[in-house]
Amino acid sequence: MLKTEHSAAAIRSVIVKTPAKINLFLAIRGKRADGMHELESVFLPLPDLCDTITVTPIHGREPEITCSHPQVPVDSSNLVYQAAIAFAEEAKIPPAWHIHIDKKIPVAAGLGGGSSDGAAVLNALEEITGITLGDSRRHQMARQLGADAPFFLNPLPSLARGIGDKLDPVTLNCSIPILLLNPGGLPVSAGWAYQRIRGSFDDLMEISSIPLLKAMWEGDLEKIARNTRTRFNEPLLQKIPLLQMFFDFLRNQDSMASHVSGSGPTVFAVFNSEEQAAAAALKAEKEFSGNVWTWHGAARASKNTANSLR
Ligand code: ATP
Repeated sequence: MLKTEHSAAAIRSVIVKTPAKINLFLAIRGKRADGMHELESVFLPLPDLCDTITVTPIHGREPEITCSHPQVPVDSSNLVYQAAIAFAEEAKIPPAWHIHIDKKIPVAAGLGGGSSDGAAVLNALEEITGITLGDSRRHQMARQLGADAPFFLNPLPSLARGIGDKLDPVTLNCSIPILLLNPGGLPVSAGWAYQRIRGSFDDLMEISSIPLLKAMWEGDLEKIARNTRTRFNEPLLQKIPLLQMFFDFLRNQDSMASHVSGSGPTVFAVFNSEEQAAAAALKAEKEFSGNVWTWHGAARASKNTANSLR
């Protein structure tokens, strides 16, 4: 959760910025009886790629949702709506809020946008109502919104286990220059991607996040890049052949590593410097004109991130 602002008016709004994430590491350890997968993942927030959520009290009995992005549903399927209903039920108050989402995080892209918005609303409603849920209840409620949502309650670089909801913050002692490439207009649902796993799990002894976590602690960018690894490159390449062109392009731009983030289809690349990432973004826009959305920036060292986060 980034930066919170208030208006002095009697009916005040709360405005929160809530970030995207990438998965620097994603291994699948098994499948549970309820159909969810057990993961080991390293989540990295991108504090400069954010949705902005404005929550304003209204008179009424239902949340009203608006969104700047025409493809995002504004009905009860929106995680922001579900967060508002859950909060109101818990607090025993009417869910009388207008919630506007200014969408900058690409939708159904493996960047966690919906979960980020939902978690941000839980935090914003605590602030606007003065009602505190408590850490454990807040985490449970976020978990009900989705497996990734608990991470966004306090989005720090983290090791995630369980279904992605058991979180331990980890230290990042350098910033990581990142370029994102998304094949615009080709959303992928997490459900589809997980179906492609078909019981092939990553062995704990062979594939571990420990070398990556050590490199993050050491602040060694080259080692960080070398130890990134995610799981969905292969099924996503079969579904979206354009991604192979992205990977080839990124290699030609001397990226240090590139992978699909989460369940895709956004590809992230680690670069030596933000300047290199910016230059590659410009080239990608020329090379894939009309077929790519780009973003470049950096995941910041934990110290900086922690200072700017709630
Ligand atoms: P997932 O891994 O859950 O698919 P994602 O990060 O890849 O997450 P999201 O941007 O969260 O993708 O969108 C997934 C779907 O969730 C969208 O297709 C949309 O219908 C629905 N959705 C519900 N609430 C939101 C929201 N606030 N923002 C974006 N999408 C939302």
